[in-house]
Amino acid sequence: MPEAVLEIDGLDSFYGDFQALFGVSMRVERGEVVAVIGANGAGKSTLMRSVTGLLTNRPEMVRFGTAQIGALRADQIAHMGIAMVPEGRQLFPSLSVEENLIIGGQAGRPGEWTLDAVYSLFPVLKERRHQASTSLSGGQQQMVAIGRALMSNPELLLFDEISLGLAPIIIKTIYEALPDVIGTGMSAVLVEQDITRAVDISDRVYCLQEGRVSLEGKSGEVSREEISKAYFGV
Ligand code: ATP
Repeated sequence: MPEAVLEIDGLDSFYGDFQALFGVSMRVERGEVVAVIGANGAGKSTLMRSVTGLLTNRPEMVRFGTAQIGALRADQIAHMGIAMVPEGRQLFPSLSVEENLIIGGQAGRPGEWTLDAVYSLFPVLKERRHQASTSLSGGQQQMVAIGRALMSNPELLLFDEISLGLAPIIIKTIYEALPDVIGTGMSAVLVEQDITRAVDISDRVYCLQEGRVSLEGKSGEVSREEISKAYFGV
């Protein structure tokens, strides 16, 4: 079996007494793009937060390579090589574009993703590098969020609903950049509500429904009917 970068094994996640995930298991292999789809409230963001240390779990439930990371803090996990492009972008509003990118670099490890590399991927960010991140359009802010994650030179990159609230033309631009973003060897998990995009860009897909995995399969092999059933429960 190919090497797993991320292995989640029977993950239960809670907000206080409320259980949001029930025994979720998932595997991401090296170089693979895995899509996680599901309706509002299905648990997709909770799953991402559980991987990045924003929600702690029993140590053995989440493994990154051979390391058990389920109980580590977010900063420890970032240093190990996992980065997230969070839902809503969550840029540092008082900082410039370039300062946001530099902070991403401080969270991670040295590597091929530098300021110059990010600027050649998204040239508009170089033009705007001294502007406050909040003065940019939504699509440009999303590019900053992606660049900031890349600057940590992650082994695993998690995208949480990157198309949310963006115009279709911007979504297209960002999706066209993704193959370069993911590049060789990096693995990615892409959380999406847009089923077509998610299936088109990924190698494998997981569907969550009410906190449980309702479908898992190769993206090219799962049928529309199977996805609809797993997504909507009909
Ligand atoms: P969306 O697409 O709307 O972001 P999602 O699939 O990402 O949905 P989650 O945000 O993971 O879903 O939410 C899963 C469940 O956990 C939902 O029932 C939600 O109401 C609940 N939940 C999420 N965040 C919290 C929180 N901070 N406190 C309490 N409950 C929460």
